[in-house]
Amino acid sequence: MPTTQNKDYYGTLGVKKTASSDDIRKAFRKLARKYHPDVNPGDKKAEEKFKEISEANDVLSDEKKRKVYDQVGFYSDQIDPAQAEAYARQQSQGGQSPVDFGGFDFSGFQGAGGAPQQGAGSASWGSFKDIFSGIFSGAQQPQRARGPQPGTDLEYQATVDFWTAIRGGQARIQVNRMETCPTCHGQASTGGPTQCPECNGSGQVTQMGGRMKFNIPCPRCNGTGRINNTCATCHGEGVVSRTETVDFRIKAGTRDGQRIRLQGKGNSGVNGGAAGDLFLIVRTGTHPVFTRVGDDIHVAVPVTIAEASLGAKVDVPTIDGRAQLKIPPGTQSGQKLRMRERGVENAQRPGQRGDQIVTIDVVVPTLNDERSREIMRELAKLNNQDPRVALFEKV
Ligand SMILES: [Zn+2]
Ligand SMILES: [Zn+2]
Repeated sequence: MPTTQNKDYYGTLGVKKTASSDDIRKAFRKLARKYHPDVNPGDKKAEEKFKEISEANDVLSDEKKRKVYDQVGFYSDQIDPAQAEAYARQQSQGGQSPVDFGGFDFSGFQGAGGAPQQGAGSASWGSFKDIFSGIFSGAQQPQRARGPQPGTDLEYQATVDFWTAIRGGQARIQVNRMETCPTCHGQASTGGPTQCPECNGSGQVTQMGGRMKFNIPCPRCNGTGRINNTCATCHGEGVVSRTETVDFRIKAGTRDGQRIRLQGKGNSGVNGGAAGDLFLIVRTGTHPVFTRVGDDIHVAVPVTIAEASLGAKVDVPTIDGRAQLKIPPGTQSGQKLRMRERGVENAQRPGQRGDQIVTIDVVVPTLNDERSREIMRELAKLNNQDPRVALFEKV
């Protein structure tokens, strides 16, 4: 665990620099019992303290770590003990030349009593923890996987014409899909590896942390100094976005909301990965006369008072053209008459059709001449039933 150089681990545990490992263990246990978060629930200060003593114990209880800490003034897993040794020797001799710790350049590191070397004397030392975690988490990230990656699926809503959905046929839709890059053919790079522009091929970059300089492995090339030549067309993605017109077939009787799967018409894969699928959710168009509900067709048909009361045979529109409908005598407005198998053929069960449901809409005539009004009055006298009787019976 990286730590700051000015942390006094011995002081934290309350032991002398010469303490034996047994002393250290005892001191830690005593403090741990006092500051453990389980003993101090919700106490942030105790939690901080517990972290500090745990960190101190982590280093001082390990012989190798303790040695590095004694030599350098802080501990990090990244430090090679042999180099720490060399550094300590040099410090004791008053050496000034930089020592490369195989990752760190301590040219600015003077120890507790050293004078600041850089002009910006006010620069904060910062926290070693912050500096290190930032650098090493970046440097240790594995290079992006470049194996075959399958393309993702796409989902689009496709509106098809009312008649196409019923009779079947061709439809088309515009989709935006990721397509294999035509320049690099999905390889994301053009040609072999080239010198890394970030580190100029050295594989190392220098990063300032407070007054310290760190030589760290170049995060762009992972310290190799070479990167693959990125394709300019797809910026190394291997795929490019394209708007494409997709033609697809609609089965007769396709219903609203039905899903159609077009295999391999989704986004292209990368590095030879299979393309995803394109899923189309069919939205069937509407019609001014016919309303489709599943496989049934609903239509409102106006009839005259004479047709409704006397009964009649009238022509009604169906999806196959005109057809005759028998209106029984005494048909009321709003009444529904079923025309069997005049609906839509089922997409799953060919030959099986829905029905047409006709809603009767009685049209009341406007009487413009005295003769018609006379007849209507006479008709009313002959048929003087009150249609509101039932209504009042229920009140
Ligand atoms: Zn590099
Ligand atoms: Zn490309």
